[in-house]
Amino acid sequence: MSNWQEMEKKYLFTNTVRWSILPVKGKGSYLWDENGTKYLDLVGGWAVCCLGHSHPVMTKALSEQSKILVQCGPQSCNIPQLHLAELLVKISCCNRVFFANSGAEANEGAVKLARRYGKLKLNGAFTTITAYNSFHGRTLAMTAATGQAHYQDAYQPLPAGFINVPFNDIEAIKNATTKDTCAVMVEPVQGEGGVNIPDESYLKAVRQWCDEKGILLILDEVQTGVGRIGTMFGYQQFGIEPDIMTLAKGLGGGIPIGAFLAKEKCAVFVPGDHGSTYGSNPLMCATSLAVMEYVIKNDIPAKAQKTGLYLIDGLVKLKNKYPFITDVRGRGLLAAIEFNKDISQSVMAACVENGMMVNNVKPNAVRIMPPLTISTKEIDEALAVFDKVFAGVKV
Ligand SMILES: *Cc1c(COP(=O)(O)O)cnc(C)c1O
Repeated sequence: MSNWQEMEKKYLFTNTVRWSILPVKGKGSYLWDENGTKYLDLVGGWAVCCLGHSHPVMTKALSEQSKILVQCGPQSCNIPQLHLAELLVKISCCNRVFFANSGAEANEGAVKLARRYGKLKLNGAFTTITAYNSFHGRTLAMTAATGQAHYQDAYQPLPAGFINVPFNDIEAIKNATTKDTCAVMVEPVQGEGGVNIPDESYLKAVRQWCDEKGILLILDEVQTGVGRIGTMFGYQQFGIEPDIMTLAKGLGGGIPIGAFLAKEKCAVFVPGDHGSTYGSNPLMCATSLAVMEYVIKNDIPAKAQKTGLYLIDGLVKLKNKYPFITDVRGRGLLAAIEFNKDISQSVMAACVENGMMVNNVKPNAVRIMPPLTISTKEIDEALAVFDKVFAGVKV
């Protein structure tokens, strides 16, 4: 398809800076463009394709369920939904599940649940405290929750009821808490904000503060959940449990599904309070169920943990070789390389030239979030491409 860039210009909004290639096929850790050129994919459908592109477990479930029941709507349950909810309750600290279609919607629902809780149990408290450099989605309310001015400025006025405070700073949360506060919402490790890992004590302190004040802790695990940072859920690494947790990205392995889960004490919805036409869609739930069963059976989180350490090891060697790299950081298979200058866009372009996809998460940092099934041999291949690209950086 030689004219795709003309079509892009003519028919699509210029709402994002896109790659200079057109992926037409994916398999495992690789993508192919329209010319048949192969790319090692360190982005994995935006931290979504936990089993790699087009894993047979996923495509089989999709195809089989598509012949049985695709959609039935929110006024009935369906079998894949019930099994998937049961599985998520079994492997998490939560008791109830609501399925949505995306991460943003899962987070909206979680905040609505917290406000419902605030109305019923906290004298009408409605404010949610979130962090700077967070990312919670693109709806208007989640734009207010997302503590990054460049996502917010164009859309003022934003919905009320959100306060953004510095991440990894428990005093900031304490100072922002008032009688109107119903919840604190944070990511265990910030993803879109540049892969920011909090101090070991931070989430414990947040948990303790929420307990002390009787307010809810919502963990946005849309990116960190389902093995991304080396455990099934991110909270398992920080010695705490959330009251409400959201999932999306890895949950479906590539198909659109999101979910929020909650402990029994905050399951305060009554009929009519919340819903979704496509949420709990049997096609998506059956596919997610097959993906999750595979993830559990093959202990994919442990694999991500191991491969992630191998990746960081290689990245540290590159940092020692190239003085313009100021930091490498990561947990599991969510990692970032930070530079002393705003060169991430040109680094990304050079990687693409050399057959590898990465994400320029910040002007001075690239993010790595490959399929969790990526092999150490493929990591070696990635490190070799980075080495070649960094050797060409003029500083
Ligand atoms: C991607 C992401 C979202 C938004 O998910 P969408 O499916 O794009 O709506 C929310 N929170 C976090 C932490 C994310 O990484």
